[in-house]
Amino acid sequence: MAPVEDPMERLRARLDEHRLGMSVALEEARHALSIGEVPVGACVMLDGEILSRACNLRETLRDPTAHAEIIALRRAAFIVGAWRLTGATMYVTLEPCAMCAGALVLARIDMVVFGTRDPKAGACGSVMDVPGNRSLNHRVQVVGPFMEDECRELLQEFFRSMRKDSRTDSREMPGLASGRDPAGNGAMLNGHM
Ligand SMILES: [Zn+2]
Repeated sequence: MAPVEDPMERLRARLDEHRLGMSVALEEARHALSIGEVPVGACVMLDGEILSRACNLRETLRDPTAHAEIIALRRAAFIVGAWRLTGATMYVTLEPCAMCAGALVLARIDMVVFGTRDPKAGACGSVMDVPGNRSLNHRVQVVGPFMEDECRELLQEFFRSMRKDSRTDSREMPGLASGRDPAGNGAMLNGHM
């Protein structure tokens, strides 16, 4: 006899999966922080398994497109052996920007779960809504904010240390030192900055 599907059980299992995915993304974000990058981490999960994980490496690679999501997507596609990632879920600590949200649509990802909103550049509902755009041929389900406090605190930690450095360091960093994040709420400074 086929097992009876308990909707609550299914929901609990999905929530556990989301927690696992976001925990891995958070580990990646902490790694980014430790190497002086804006702390954003991501992972791609398929059938309950972590396919790939990555952190923001924009400074390290001197690459404007080296966002955590893009690197994680490329790694996932390499592992699957196809560009199409149907059925996969992306977990990312910060709401994806237009580039990354576009890449999620192109990869045919099923769902994106993000940690905290990016009121300056978020493209999953904040500044624009790429995954929900009805003109596109694929729509990505968006869940978030999820585990928001942890994700936001990491970003706040980063910006606090940047401000402290700008006070003690004579090397002025344009934009960051001039207090473009005056609310101190970790609101992003144009994308992942
Ligand atoms: Zn991005």
